[in-house]
Amino acid sequence: MKILIATDMEGITGVTTWDHVTPGHAEYTRFRRLMTQDVNAAIRGAMDAGADEIIIADGHWNGSNILVEELDSRARLNTGSPSPFSMMQGIDESVDGVMFVGYHARNGTPHAILDHTWSSKTVANVWLNDILTGEYGLNAAVAGQFGVPVIMVSGDQTACAQVTELLGDIEMAVVKQATGRFAAECLTPQTSQELICTTAMRAVERLVQGDTPDPFVIEIPVRVTVEFFTSDMADRATRIPFTERDGTRVSFAAQDMASAYSGFRAMVMLAIG
Ligand SMILES: [Zn+2]
Repeated sequence: MKILIATDMEGITGVTTWDHVTPGHAEYTRFRRLMTQDVNAAIRGAMDAGADEIIIADGHWNGSNILVEELDSRARLNTGSPSPFSMMQGIDESVDGVMFVGYHARNGTPHAILDHTWSSKTVANVWLNDILTGEYGLNAAVAGQFGVPVIMVSGDQTACAQVTELLGDIEMAVVKQATGRFAAECLTPQTSQELICTTAMRAVERLVQGDTPDPFVIEIPVRVTVEFFTSDMADRATRIPFTERDGTRVSFAAQDMASAYSGFRAMVMLAIG
């Protein structure tokens, strides 16, 4: 049984501000260690429940957050950027289940720590066909193309609720109760990591029993629509051929989810300028 743990940082234990997740900031060094520990807890749980191969994707910022020297030696780490599948690097048909560790809500969500969608200064909203989603939906749909279900999420209560609303009844570890974008009541690392470990264990047990929601398969061709914060961002994103523009919204159609994901990442990179 092979598990891909797709990680982000905003939903990691104790994280409440951008300082915690921004490379170069003094606080960041504390939280990349906590991120590594949250991931280790998920590895422990998955392995205890019978997984025998674990791949990690370091999905935050430039993909160089997890401390490889402190990572559980039974796992392998995808780190660095850009990589072909970014936050989902390591995904293919051989993966049996995906865990989201450290995830956050989509941009514009109340009571959600560091809510944003891919780029906090660039992207206001993203739709896959008519589904308004965040990074969780994009990433789950990439897994879906390979027939792989998402089986677990960790993050604040709002992130977990958004993910389960989209994907169905998957296991969740709520490591903090957000009361605003920069405020939350947090579990301490020991308690939080025990919770992540037991949640990962339950998720793999349910996967073994065939008791997990179906993979999130998006209907193709898939129309990706990105609403940017300003017109100049949309100006730059429309330099990509075959895009359509409506105000600050730019959209395109793709024949599969992997190309939709590539096109989305290309648009955002251009829009950032
Ligand atoms: Zn992030």
